[in-house]
Amino acid sequence: AHVIPLKTGLEGPFPWRALLVMSDETSIKRADRMRADFLANASHELRTPLASLAGFIETLRGHAREDIGARDRFLSIMQDQTERMRRLIDDLLSLSRVEMDEHLPPSDEVDVAAIARDTVDVLGPIAREKGVMIEADADERAIVTGQRDQLIEVAQNLVENAIKYSVSGSRVVIEVRGGLTREQAEHSSHSLGNQAARVTIAVPSGSASGQAKRRFAVIRVRDAGVGIERRHLPRLSERFYRVDGQKSGPKEGTGLGLAIVKHIVSRHRGGFVVESAQGEGSVFSVFLPMPVEKPAIQEAGPARS
Ligand code: ADP
Repeated sequence: AHVIPLKTGLEGPFPWRALLVMSDETSIKRADRMRADFLANASHELRTPLASLAGFIETLRGHAREDIGARDRFLSIMQDQTERMRRLIDDLLSLSRVEMDEHLPPSDEVDVAAIARDTVDVLGPIAREKGVMIEADADERAIVTGQRDQLIEVAQNLVENAIKYSVSGSRVVIEVRGGLTREQAEHSSHSLGNQAARVTIAVPSGSASGQAKRRFAVIRVRDAGVGIERRHLPRLSERFYRVDGQKSGPKEGTGLGLAIVKHIVSRHRGGFVVESAQGEGSVFSVFLPMPVEKPAIQEAGPARS
């Protein structure tokens, strides 16, 4: 039905009109498809722990009723599965909130250096439990126009991952720098050497001339953990994407953390670079535009003596 108007449109006086309709419809179909995929994935992810819970309830009602040892073991697995469902639901809600706000420009003045220091305080105990050292290198203020709770979520997600994929005895550093050019923001980390692969995941949009003058604040989270194989890097921020066979301990991830980070960063008109070398570690750098400084107003008139 849509091929005929397109053909007529192309021959008519306003061919671009017909083309516009086509591309619109394609993007609507793509969006529908993505929503359907997302629902299917989300349901599948929730169904797995639910099926396991149902199975254990059945067993506990049946032959494990009298076996105290088995009962304790099963209850502890059930607790883990319940915890996993809670994490999934929290992350799904968080992602949907972030997506809903994506078109609203954030407006608070936020110091990301303070967020980095707070993140170390909040996640320090989890790191220590795993034998991972964690420190902030964020002494100077770095102000961006943003939404504070969302930027906290970005810092916490990146540091949580860094801890989760670190080995005991290694170090995680969250560093913040302000006043960088786009080039410096995207390319200033060389801590992993030449072997590391690098991918830019979200790129700040806006006019080229505006971007050239812009200064950025960077939140950089560095770990000396398991690292990520090059082929996985471009897909890390897809919803539910996880690297196979990567053991992350009892607090298993949902595959939604970096999707949330990506949406928040793009709402802030920022960008996001991942560098990694397998077996050496990873560096996740988020860069956020700083407010443009207005030129100081010159005082007119003669100076008073
Ligand atoms: P998850 O909840 O599984 O950690 P994320 O979206 O936060 O989900 O991350 C997606 C995947 O990227 C993870 O499952 C993991 O395989 C990989 N990943 C993320 N951060 C790191 C890191 N610092 N080191 C190694 N792998 C990481």
